[in-house]
Amino acid sequence: MCDLTNEIFTNETAAREYLEANRWEDGPFCPHCGETEKVQRLNGEKHRPGLHQCNSCRKQFTVTVGTLFERSKVPLNKWLLATHLLSSSKKGMSTHQLHRMLGVTYKTAWFMTHRIREAMKDNRPGPMGGGGKIVEADETYIGSTGWVFTHGRWHKKRGTGDAKAIVSLVERDGRARSFHVDRVNSKTIRNVLVTNVSRESDLMTDEAQFYKRVGEEFKGHQSVNHTRKPNNSAPAASVLASK
Ligand SMILES: [Zn+2]
Repeated sequence: MCDLTNEIFTNETAAREYLEANRWEDGPFCPHCGETEKVQRLNGEKHRPGLHQCNSCRKQFTVTVGTLFERSKVPLNKWLLATHLLSSSKKGMSTHQLHRMLGVTYKTAWFMTHRIREAMKDNRPGPMGGGGKIVEADETYIGSTGWVFTHGRWHKKRGTGDAKAIVSLVERDGRARSFHVDRVNSKTIRNVLVTNVSRESDLMTDEAQFYKRVGEEFKGHQSVNHTRKPNNSAPAASVLASK
């Protein structure tokens, strides 16, 4: 499944059939009540492709119900590609790279990344990262006031309003953790970082001021510019500071 031109990454129907074959190895089951027998596929023009009917609880469902892909306007093939890229890329994948590769807005790429990372969430105790390992930290704001559209693209609005903030930490091999914080500032960011990440790690963040000081407590710190102009042929991310 490493071939990125694979149909399941480019075609929505192929993506759905792939997910059905994998999730429903022993046949479809109802995600609402668990029924495995009295389940039927609804064919025909008037039904959404992949729609099923449970004759036990009378509810309808598709294969995405109960997965991280449900209730999204993003085509399933893009979800599969994003999940594949985020979980298999050796060096990891930034939201910015994903935004470019999937052809979705940065905002959409961020929410996809966040949802996928939540699903891959690491519950093992102990610090993330370590010698020679990169840990990426990023923050976002949930709520309508969290984003502003200026200079032709979306930007995160920092530390204002009542938006809820989430700080995400991602180790470049798939381990990920997210934290709600009341507000994002040097103190809350530092608290999340030093209690979760080994100081032997290389830290990768955006250019926000509140990462500068705590960055010095780690073995290395690189900050990446997320707001580079679109259609720039230069690399997606510019490394602005590194030790
Ligand atoms: Zn049911």
